[in-house]
Amino acid sequence: MSKVDYSLAGYERPKLQTPNGEKKLLMHSCCAPCAGEIMEALAVSEIDTTIFFYNPNIHPQEEYELRKEENIRFAEKLGMPFIDADYEKELWFERVKGQEDEPERGLRCTTCFDMRFEVTAKYAKAHDFDLISSTLGISRWKDMNQINGCGARATDSFNGITYWDFNWRKQGGSSRMLELSKQEEFYQQEYCGCVYSLRDTNRWRVSRGREKVERGVKFYAEVMDSLTKQVK
Ligand code: SF4
Repeated sequence: MSKVDYSLAGYERPKLQTPNGEKKLLMHSCCAPCAGEIMEALAVSEIDTTIFFYNPNIHPQEEYELRKEENIRFAEKLGMPFIDADYEKELWFERVKGQEDEPERGLRCTTCFDMRFEVTAKYAKAHDFDLISSTLGISRWKDMNQINGCGARATDSFNGITYWDFNWRKQGGSSRMLELSKQEEFYQQEYCGCVYSLRDTNRWRVSRGREKVERGVKFYAEVMDSLTKQVK
């Protein structure tokens, strides 16, 4: 079998424009692999962007710090401002109480997105941003309609702030996301983020005779290389 080619030779990135000519974007980011391609696309499109890292859902704290540091590393590389927002994990646990056994993409995730978007929109209002969006939607594991509903709801109560529901997966976004993750050797998390998603991922793995998630050890370059070796 031939080697898989992950490169996008000849790929020309489309120039992005904000939906209504907005001038300042506050981009909620969940992690470096999801954010990387979007950050690069925004930078080359010369859209005034600040990254907002607000993810009190991520558990445990070492995992949170690792995901955040990976994102900071890439923001510094691009020279993009990065807001390190509070790790309000107690508030997050309070908010999802009673929804612990919801499946992924269910009600708990709506609550989780709502919380992250609300804080993003509030910060945007207080600091003169006129547009918010999130990197969450680029992941194929996520329900884009669910995310966009939460984003739009969060901006409803703030005049002058728009939620940008751009489909980041399109125009080569998904492929470029993988390519960039490999190039930058980003940390590759193996569960969505919260303690319940870690529990459910491990249950699923064990039921198929696989090892449980080992946090903090997998990086994209290694994964893609081993994948390439398997298909040679
Ligand atoms: S599975 Fe992901 S989106 Fe859903 S509640 Fe957990 S961290 Fe949030």
